[in-house]
This record gives sequence, structure tokens and C-alpha cells, in this order.
Amino acid sequence: MTASTVVGGLDLAQERRIVTAIPGPRSSEILAVKEQEVARSVGHTLPIVAEAAGGGVLVDVDGNSFIDLGSGIAVTGVGNANPRVVRAVTEQVQRFTHTAFTVVPYEGYIEVARKLNRLVPGDFPKRTALFNSGAEAVENAVKIARHATGRQAVVAFEHSFHGRTNLTMALTAKSSPYKQGFGPFAPEVYRVQGSYPYRDGGLSGPEAARRAIAQIENQLGAQSVAAIIIEPIQGEGGFIVPAEGFLATLHEWTSSNGIVFIADEIQSGFARTGSWFAVDHEGFAPDLVTMAKGIAGGLPLSAVTGRAELMDASQVGGLGGTYGGNPIACAAALATLESYEQDGLLERARRIGAILTERLTALAQADPRIGEVRGRGAMIAVELVDPASTAPDADLTARVVRFAHENGVILLACGSHGNVIRFLPPLTIDDHLLNEGIDIVAQGLARS
Ligand SMILES: *Cc1c(COP(=O)(O)O)cnc(C)c1O
Repeated sequence: MTASTVVGGLDLAQERRIVTAIPGPRSSEILAVKEQEVARSVGHTLPIVAEAAGGGVLVDVDGNSFIDLGSGIAVTGVGNANPRVVRAVTEQVQRFTHTAFTVVPYEGYIEVARKLNRLVPGDFPKRTALFNSGAEAVENAVKIARHATGRQAVVAFEHSFHGRTNLTMALTAKSSPYKQGFGPFAPEVYRVQGSYPYRDGGLSGPEAARRAIAQIENQLGAQSVAAIIIEPIQGEGGFIVPAEGFLATLHEWTSSNGIVFIADEIQSGFARTGSWFAVDHEGFAPDLVTMAKGIAGGLPLSAVTGRAELMDASQVGGLGGTYGGNPIACAAALATLESYEQDGLLERARRIGAILTERLTALAQADPRIGEVRGRGAMIAVELVDPASTAPDADLTARVVRFAHENGVILLACGSHGNVIRFLPPLTIDDHLLNEGIDIVAQGLARS
């Protein structure tokens, strides 16, 4: 085990161990009940039922131990049941579980805000508001931007994902499964092209930004736009890293036109890319940043942090919610931030990124169906294509992912066309498990 590895509360053996067919008998039994009791639309990716997880593994109810390359969709960056989080939550849950911060405030919330105001980039006064889910943070960032600018239009991008509530469905690009049949959607949301170097035919970052700006000016006029919202590295859309200069050029234009630049760091944030936020690599500070997923070690918490004058613009009582910034989730967030800092996890994300990039690049050199290896830090993906046409190959992707699941690796696909395999291991995974996980993916590719 490496020095920086933090093992889960139960001291789980850090190994891949398959002792039954997948799914095993106990999982099958429980999933049959799920079928009867849980809405069918709430699907599941793996046909197993969780029993325990920590470090780099998840153990199911049949005793199978899976290598975790998904972190519950980029949430458990500090590892599942991280010991610091377990201690902090246990201590808080014994003192009080809820007051409603907007009824009686407590220090944990204020401390999370203080920390985020310092971690989020930008050499200007900042404020923070806390919520429960990523979608709720996005909704509130839009409320804040509209109130502060007195404008209504919000611009999102191709391949974006911002959530599943009504406004965030409108902001999300992909129809199936997120939007199909769920309309009508919120008005005053517009979509333009972003930057997708693998499929942009050599367009530079600034050129792609000028294309987007021309679309916005043509469709709306800058003076109607309250905000643009963009993921600095797109998550569900396929781990698309925009060409250099794309985001900075857009930001220059939003700044000179009184438009709020919202960076949605819900997936790319919190040490995932080897720095606190993906936008730290871009050389400018967004006006507002939305955060969730990796913020609290698995407890539901989200945040909007940004320029004080924007955050303070709306009327008192205009922002809030019964559970927003719940004290247990705040205790978990403080312990989570401490773990990223004290357990060397930013450095660990860079090391994981180096291993993934080197090994996947070697695979790509031998297998032309890997069209591109991309990403940053512990947020890396491969796009699988037909080598002749570069058409997306979703079937191949599904076969490789299924092979991984049957052989003890939790692996997730993404991409507007379902043809991207993403690697999102907990930053507490050790090198040995990470390499074994990549071996299984390589075997899956060779056999598919
Ligand atoms: C997951 C995600 C969201 C939505 O978060 P929820 O907590 O599922 O509501 C929004 N934006 C991005 C970039 C995400 O990855």
C-alpha cells in the first residue's frame, strides 16, 4: 500500500476478488425486490448490491470485491467511508442533525463557506451559499446571475450536462435518457457549439470561442445574456477538454459584456484534475463556480461560490432551502477538504493521471479503435470509434464495460454517443489496483 492510501473504515482488503457469478445469488435476490418496489426509471449500471467500500474497492453482498474506477460518479475522491469523514460525521450526528441554517445558523456551514471562498480561484471578495445537489447549485447560480444582471438569457454548450431538474434539463444537451418526454423545459436557455478538439477539424481554442461568441451575438445579442454556463472539462458529455485558450477567450468576452461566467465544476472539481478546480489550469477566474460531487466524501452537499457583489445582489431570503448546507454534510465537507490537503491527494490525482495516460496511450497505439485518450489528472477517458470513419462505437464501449463488470471492475461509460470510457478512481486507490483495473479494460478491449 502506498503511503497516501487511506483505507475505508472496515479495513477492507485492497484486492479484486470474484467469488460468485456476477450477479451473485444474494445480489440477484435483492435486485428482484428492487424491480418490484423501486421505480423502473431509476436504473442501475452494475447488477450488484453494495455491502462496504473503501480505499480502491467496493465489496458486494456476495463477498465479491470490485476495483472501483468510478467513485460513485466522481464523488468519493477521498475514498469511501474515509476515516476523517466517518469521525467528523459521527461527532456531528451526536450533537445535532438539523436546525435549518436559515432558521438557526451553525459554524460548520460558515466554515465551509470560508474555506471555499479561499480555494475557488479569483483575487476578489467572494461569498458562498450551500445547497444539496449539483442541480440545485446550478439552479441557484442561474438565479443569482439573473438577479444581479437583470437579464434572462442563459447560454449553455453542446455536450453539456448540468442536471435533471427542470431548468437544468433545459441546460443539459443530451435528450435520451435525461430529457426525453419530460418537457416542456425552462425558457430562455440557448445552446451553442463549444470546443471539441478531436472532432473540430483543427479549430484552435480562440477560434472555437469566436464561433460560439458569433452564435450568441447573432441569436441573442450580448446585452440579453445573463450568464454562460460551462464545464471546464465536460463530464457526462465525454470528458471533453476544450482546446487551449477557448475558455479564456470566452471569459474575456463575457467580462467585457457584463455577462456572468459560471464554471460548473461539479464533476471536474475537488482535486480530481490534480488541482483544486479544472479552471485553475486556464489562467482566469470565473465569476461563479458550482460545486458538488467530490465536496463531502459522499454526503449530499453542493455550493455556489463567487463574486461578493453578485452573490449579495438578491433580496435576503431569496436563496436557501430546508436542508441546504446540512450540518452533517458540512462536517463531512470539512473533513473531506482536510483529507485532500493532508493526505496528499492532489499529488495523488496527478500520479493517477500519469499512470492512466501512459498505459491508455500505449493501448491506443496498438488499437486504432481508441480514437483519443484525453483528460487531466484522475479524470481520463478513451473515445472508442470505428477506425475508418471515426464514427462513435457505442456497442464496443458497452461490451468492454460489461466485460469489466463481470470481471470485478466498476467502470463507467459517458459521451453524447455513449462511446467514451471514463476513469474516475478514488484518489485513495493504490497503484497496484489501478494497474490491475487497466489490465482488465485492456483484456476487455482485446476480446471485444
Ligand atoms: C453530476 C453533475 C451535475 C448534477 O449534479 P446532481 O447532484 O446529480 O444534481 C451538474 N453538473 C455536472 C457537471 C455534473 O457532473
